[in-house]
Formats: sequence, structure tokens, C-alpha cells
Amino acid sequence: MSDPPRKLSRRAFLGGLALGAASAAAPGAARASDGYGKGGVHGRRAEELCAFLDISRCINCQQCVYACRETNGHKFPEPKKPFPKMYPNKVPVEDWSERRNVTDRLTPYNWLSIQTAEVEWQGKEYRLHIPRRCLHCQNPPCANLCPFGAARKLENGIVRIESGLCMGGAKCRAVCPWQIPQRQTGVGLYLSLMPRFAGNGVMYKCDRCFDTKVAKGELPACVEVCPESVQSIGPREEIVALAKRRAGETGGFLYGLEDNGGTNTIYLSPVPWEVLNEAVDSRGKHKPDLAAKPNVMANEENLASAVFAAPVAGLAAGVFAAAKSIRDRKGGADD
Ligand code: SF4
Ligand code: SF4
Ligand code: SF4
Repeated sequence: MSDPPRKLSRRAFLGGLALGAASAAAPGAARASDGYGKGGVHGRRAEELCAFLDISRCINCQQCVYACRETNGHKFPEPKKPFPKMYPNKVPVEDWSERRNVTDRLTPYNWLSIQTAEVEWQGKEYRLHIPRRCLHCQNPPCANLCPFGAARKLENGIVRIESGLCMGGAKCRAVCPWQIPQRQTGVGLYLSLMPRFAGNGVMYKCDRCFDTKVAKGELPACVEVCPESVQSIGPREEIVALAKRRAGETGGFLYGLEDNGGTNTIYLSPVPWEVLNEAVDSRGKHKPDLAAKPNVMANEENLASAVFAAPVAGLAAGVFAAAKSIRDRKGGADD
């Protein structure tokens, strides 16, 4: 049995990036070429960037967790306090700014965490570690249903949230099958526009190092740093072929091929996912589970909402541009 490649060849990797690298180059830029202001990218492409994670190789060393924080820390929120009181008082304050060191779950300051499951299957005991972050869905409900167009799928398949556009209403988390995005109160556009009436912050999640690494043709930090070569990354078609081949060779089980209509993160486990899902700690808020997920966007109500959201998102982008220009003239900052 041959070892899986650490990563696809540089040529294949860059091939996968070529479509979107240029468009993803400018952090926070609202440019037509990357879909901002135009409703983002819809539909699936064979060249989309996809990751493959063989969880049997993960030793829970956490190097990926800290590499992510180091690489993307400059995008973490710096909230203004005290927080404005919301009216009506129905949107809870979510403040992680005093708990930035938390690594055992996803937060605005921790975009990757490792879950552990101890299971017995077919008479054998397993202790498996599962790196968890945004799965970068092929048809992401977070992006399709964001009322402000802040969550978007880029041409290279990366799904990201533009912090300068996000009002923190958490629609993206509500419709995400794994409740991945996390809110920080006291930061973002709502403070300038409607500090007492809007969503109460900004949502944060893994952006696949779209600007810090991928736009430069480099591997995402968590992929690059892993000493056990848990992750491979490249064009989806090739990654799916690799994942299926490895599953066939090892008798393992895949997650992400069909979940939520297909994700650009494919996991391989030596035990069935329903067994892992029973064992993994998904108690408490916002610890993602491992259950099979139906396609959120196949729901007719969501499809109708997406059609409604698109023009509103365009309008919101215009409001954002105007607000930003006023702020820039006053010498203000985004967050
Ligand atoms: S996993 Fe959740 S946050 Fe990530 S792209 Fe899918 S729906 Fe969006
Ligand atoms: S791809 Fe980048 S942003 Fe996402 S978890 Fe890995 S290091 Fe963090
Ligand atoms: S760096 Fe690799 S081995 Fe270490 S926790 Fe992350 S995925 Fe697992």
C-alpha cells in the first residue's frame, strides 16, 4: 500500500489556484473579479480548491491550530468597549476577546480546533483526532443566504466572510449545518450604521488563508505545518479521486462527498462516521458534529430566500461602499 502524497504536485496545486488566486489577492477588496458586489460565485467547478484529511494520521499535536492563529491573527477582531446596548435586547453579546486562548472549540480567535473520539469498532479500539473548521461547501448556504452579501464563495471555491460587510446577524451560522461561523460583538459596520439595532458584531471562520497563503501560491498554513501529512489539497476532481482511492485501499469511510450537497473538505476515517459522531464531543453550543447532512440549499424555502437575498446583498454592498468612503474621509477603520 503506497503512502498518500503530502500534497498534490505544485503544478496541480497551482492549477487549482489559477482560477481564483488573482481574485483572492486583495484582502477585503470589493472587486467585481472576485464576485464581491455581484453575488459571489454559484455552482460547482471541477477546479475548486479541495482538501483531503486522513484522520488516522492525526496525532493531535495542535501545530495546525497555532499556525492558523499566527498566520491569520491580524484578521482577528479588536472590539470597542463598552458594547452599545441593543434594542430590542434580543441579540446576545458574544465576547471572546477576553478568552482568546481558547483552542478546544471554534471562536472568532480560533478558526480550527481538534476533536477527539474514542471508539471501539469491529473489536478494535481507536482514538481518533479530527481537525474541524469550515468545510468550504460547494453550494454554501452561509454565502447564498447572507442578507448583506458578506459571506461569499470565491472563484477558487473558498468561502469567506468579508468582515467589512458583515453585520453579525449570524444568519450564516443559523443555516450552516455545522454552525461554524462565530460572532464577536463590538466590532464592524454595525457600529457605524446602526449600533443599537443591527446584528451586533462580525462573524468569523476559516477563510482557507485565501490572502495570506493561497493568493501567493502557497499552501494554507495548517496544511503546510502538519508533521504527519494529514492534509492534501488541490483541484477537487483530483482530491476526490485521491480520497476514493485511499478509501478503497484502506477500507475507510469518507465524509464530505455528499454532505450538504458536497464540500471542498473530504475526510477519511477508518471507522464509520456515524460511530464517530456518537463518540465525538459535540455537546454545548457550536461544537460541530459529524452526522450526515442533507443539502440545505435543496430546501425550496432556502432557494426562494437566496433569490431574495441576492439583490439585497448588492444593495448592501453599495451601502457599505458609501459608509466606508465616509469613514475613510473621517479617518475611521473597519474594525
Ligand atoms: S461549512 Fe458552514 S460556514 Fe463553511 S461554507 Fe459550509 S455552510 Fe458555510
Ligand atoms: S486553511 Fe488557513 S484559515 Fe483555514 S484553518 Fe487552515 S490555517 Fe486556518
Ligand atoms: S498538525 Fe497535523 S497531526 Fe498535528 S493536530 Fe494538526 S492535523 Fe493533526
